[in-house]
Amino acid sequence: MKVTFLGTAAATACPLVFCSCPMCAAGWNRQGKDFRRRSSALIGEDTIIDLGPDVMTAAFDFGMDIRKIRYWLQTHAHSDHFDAGHLITRWADYASEGIQPLDLVASRETIRHMSERLSLEEPGASLEKAEWLEKLKIRVHPVRHGEMVRLGNRHITAVESMHDPRDGSLLYVIEEEKKAFLYATDTLQFTDKAMDLLKKFRLDAVAIDHTYGPGINGGGHLNADQAAEEISRLRHEGILKPAGHAYATHISHEGMPPHEELTVFARAHGYEIAWDGLCIIL
Ligand SMILES: [Zn+2]
Ligand SMILES: [Zn+2]
Ligand SMILES: [Zn+2]
Repeated sequence: MKVTFLGTAAATACPLVFCSCPMCAAGWNRQGKDFRRRSSALIGEDTIIDLGPDVMTAAFDFGMDIRKIRYWLQTHAHSDHFDAGHLITRWADYASEGIQPLDLVASRETIRHMSERLSLEEPGASLEKAEWLEKLKIRVHPVRHGEMVRLGNRHITAVESMHDPRDGSLLYVIEEEKKAFLYATDTLQFTDKAMDLLKKFRLDAVAIDHTYGPGINGGGHLNADQAAEEISRLRHEGILKPAGHAYATHISHEGMPPHEELTVFARAHGYEIAWDGLCIIL
């Protein structure tokens, strides 16, 4: 399985547009791994996790062809993970041609909230109406915690996240040819229900929420210490294989050193820091 990180920042992107804190200054000065787009990932060539606002710049920079995408996993509907303006262009009124069918996996709550945002682009547009699903060439697979969907040669299992229960936030385990990958942003600590479900898997890699730096607390997300603890828990429970890799993603500027320093912290705690364009083969 091939996983490409298209974006590794939290909601604000990194640097923040108008911020001059040391982390953001490093971003402006060094660019490279210190320049982070909003979080999104590509599995193989045909599956995207989160159709976020920065997917086009990622496509330009990493040479990916978004037209090849046939499967779309949406974690939740927050604006850093879903850009309704991108989605609406699948409609023929935008004079778009050669639009291929797209299978969407998301919770019912996320589908409803994405529909509300889509209707701001075009009144009446919705992912809950057959007429509009036809116009957008989308097939919807609503899922809840514990449910599995087969997409092409992969199995996708939904795992609950307490990031925003009203939005039906989900994490996903993606299985392909005996390899398993957990995409776990945005999230708080894994719930007991989530851990019980995850114990059924032997993960080759995990990407985990790492929004705040060590010792900094914020709402709905993990900080560096908490992410390290959750990774240890996955290893200790035998969910993450001994040789499995853990990657931090969804990184904000709060309490966070620049990439190279952050990598030193992370390695001392048994994980890696992802960057935009990082490609891993499992
Ligand atoms: Zn987010
Ligand atoms: Zn900043
Ligand atoms: Zn969110």
